[in-house]
Amino acid sequence: MSTNEIKEIKELLSSPKKIVIVPHRNPDGDAMGSSLAMYNYLINLGHEATVVAPNDYPDFLKWMPNSKDVLKFDMQNRQSKKAIEESSIIFLLDFNALHRVGSDMEKTLKEYKGSYIMIDHHQQPDDIATYLFSDTSICSTCQMVYHFLEKMDGISEINKEIATSLYTGIMTDTGSFRFPSTTSVTHRIIADLIDKGAENAKIHNNVYDSNSFSRLQLLGKSLTNMVVIKELKTAYITLSQAELDAYNYQKGDTEGVVNYALSVDGVIFAVIFIEDSDQSIIKISLRSKGKFSVNKFARNHFDGGGHDNAAGGKSTISLEDTVAEFLKILPEYKSELLNSYEA
Ligand code: 5GP
Ligand code: MN
Repeated sequence: MSTNEIKEIKELLSSPKKIVIVPHRNPDGDAMGSSLAMYNYLINLGHEATVVAPNDYPDFLKWMPNSKDVLKFDMQNRQSKKAIEESSIIFLLDFNALHRVGSDMEKTLKEYKGSYIMIDHHQQPDDIATYLFSDTSICSTCQMVYHFLEKMDGISEINKEIATSLYTGIMTDTGSFRFPSTTSVTHRIIADLIDKGAENAKIHNNVYDSNSFSRLQLLGKSLTNMVVIKELKTAYITLSQAELDAYNYQKGDTEGVVNYALSVDGVIFAVIFIEDSDQSIIKISLRSKGKFSVNKFARNHFDGGGHDNAAGGKSTISLEDTVAEFLKILPEYKSELLNSYEA
């Protein structure tokens, strides 16, 4: 984002505006954290801001400041469309292509005549934003929102609510500050957010120690279903719709499960295949360590994308056929898999 663009955005935000903030579909901690932080910042500046999420988000994020003010496009369609139509600026946070909001909301956004400000850390952003702040080296969109506030001379505006939201997204997108994208800058920002009122122990507790018993049992089932292919440094997990139903699956229950496959000693590529009968797809989450790019793998084979070490995708054939296809493709990557990562 150039100095000139910053100047233009400052100018845009210098008088009260109607502004909408949009995270991606199935918003995670980073998407909700960045959206709610931006919401709070804009409200405090005197704007009329509305967060319009494409759909619902997991219960373990519902304690977040101002979370009750979030509109869900699929459930509160009329209100959401009205907010979008009346706004002159939309912030697109934590995603890089309009289709990531889902096809219904994408239609509405495609007709939008106002300005888009996109802040995101995914690779290869689509050319749709009036103002684009993209940096794939940064761990989280929440950290990017902090940098955006720096550019806006807005760090002093960070109150306890904003600090709490930004902390949450940085924490969830870095796997609690352990992924390689976590830098000394990240830790300095985290320290500043704690100084500004983020209650770190409470946030970790709210997000990670709020499991239902059935969620933990579903995790147990996932671990039982895990298959390790030692010679290809790969592990994968499957969950069928019947298995999800048996453990009373709730939104967000499978979040993070793929990381258990990546935690197997020697494994550098982990995948979870989750059957979704409602959408008639298999949702795929991919994770890697080192140089092996799951963004590339997901783009090439499973209609998806993301980052080098964390990506998602989908398949429209059955769970069994999807896994069979995956196993057919995998050996083509043998040398990349074996040379990706030195522990
Ligand atoms: P997750 O596996 O947690 O759903 O997603 C991992 C990462 O990949 C996230 O950063 C997410 O934004 C991205 N991602 C997930 N699904 C898709 C997809 O279908 N398409 C693209 N382009 N990115 C995805
Ligand atoms: Mn993110």
